[in-house]
Amino acid sequence: MNRLVVRAPNHLGELILSVPALQRAATDEAAAGRSPPIVQIVSWLAPLLRWAVTGAEVLPLDNRRACRRAARAIRIAADGFSIRGVTLTPSFSSAFILRLAGVTSLRGTAGDFRTWLLTDAVDRAPLLAGHRVDEYLSLLGYDRAAEPARPALGDTAVARTAWDSAERRLGISGAMRGQRVVGLFPGANGHARRWPATRFEDLADRLSAVAGRTLVFGGTSDRPLTERVAARAGKGGIDLGGRTSLMELAGGLLSCDLLITNDTGPMHLAAALGVPVLALEGPADIRQTRPLGARVRLLGRFDLPCVPCVRNECPRTGVGYELAEARGECLRLIEVREVEAAALAMLNEESA
Ligand code: SF4
Repeated sequence: MNRLVVRAPNHLGELILSVPALQRAATDEAAAGRSPPIVQIVSWLAPLLRWAVTGAEVLPLDNRRACRRAARAIRIAADGFSIRGVTLTPSFSSAFILRLAGVTSLRGTAGDFRTWLLTDAVDRAPLLAGHRVDEYLSLLGYDRAAEPARPALGDTAVARTAWDSAERRLGISGAMRGQRVVGLFPGANGHARRWPATRFEDLADRLSAVAGRTLVFGGTSDRPLTERVAARAGKGGIDLGGRTSLMELAGGLLSCDLLITNDTGPMHLAAALGVPVLALEGPADIRQTRPLGARVRLLGRFDLPCVPCVRNECPRTGVGYELAEARGECLRLIEVREVEAAALAMLNEESA
């Protein structure tokens, strides 16, 4: 007997896209009469993983640099069984930790100076032609389907309960009742993935005519931005920047009739929850990382020769294809009125 140990992705969006593969691995290990797979994951994402993949043993990772401690935690969790390792992240450290834990086999994508650590090094290039959901399925040994599987998360009651307690803590209980709620996520990890802040502010202003409440989500570092955007939404604006836990964020997204967002982890979370999502896409490769959900619309200038560059910082300078300045042109070409029109169309579809 052996234990399957999987290192999960380190980012929210990537974790969401790995859920179909992790759920399938948990089901198959149980069907084969083996113990649940152990899934090592950065601590802040552990609650979401426990919620989404109930058949796995979740092993939180507090410090990615503390490799020996992380390897020891795996050995203890494996409880004397030999270990089959699969890493879903392309990093050196993820493979190194599994090696230190004493895996008998280790599968992952080649590269990042780690190929020598892998017993089954997978060439990533062919996988990049498909969706990331399929990449994770392939790494766990499954064939891709004709269409990428939509991630399905856990019982939404769990997230709604978390949101109820957030509403009480923030003093906004009942504020959403009977209201049309629009969510905005104006931040993003990379500068190149951010639609200009002033446009989110203008959008919040324009949509305040149809949105009873505008929830402006973001992380702690986004707070000056979320504050400004929420202020432009008028008295219906609620600034949630840095004020929600991960599960509270999921519950808050569930209360939205529409989320308008940059290319972010919450974009994938909302899509997986079935929330209508209007995603503003810039440098991302939508073949690989488009959000998967029943009610998703993408806005972007996919016709530009530089799209997708898949960068977090725009490498272009000088004169653009259509604008006087090339830098960040892919997102700067998306006008507020265009986003507003798409948002109104989606809201009307929802209420039809
Ligand atoms: S190179 Fe093109 S796709 Fe990439 S960030 Fe700049 S404008 Fe956008």
